[in-house]
Amino acid sequence: MPDVRTFTGGCHCGQVRFECTTDLAMVTACNCSICTKKGLHFTFLAPTSFQLRAGGDVLKEYLFNQRAIKHQLCADCGVAVFARGKRPDGAEVVALNVSCIDGIELSKLVMTPVDGRNR
Ligand SMILES: [Zn+2]
Repeated sequence: MPDVRTFTGGCHCGQVRFECTTDLAMVTACNCSICTKKGLHFTFLAPTSFQLRAGGDVLKEYLFNQRAIKHQLCADCGVAVFARGKRPDGAEVVALNVSCIDGIELSKLVMTPVDGRNR
């Protein structure tokens, strides 16, 4: 079973910083339009496992599709750091772009295919 660890991370220019706790057991490899075009790989966290440490004032919100997922981008460097949304049962969830975790090696993560294009 993967270890639960605390990670730090942020956007490219460094204005947006976060801390999160996750086992990275489920990381998406999704074929939807935004994940494909932006190269996004998400892991999903309870809001209590994610703390924005800096940059709340530079975040820009990007909404599309049914506007259910609120993507949060750094207004300066454009990196999509995380998104806020709701699970099917209505619980709040944070979708974290794992590429924003400090020192992450994408090639070492186990990815779970998600057929977002056809949902
Ligand atoms: Zn930035």
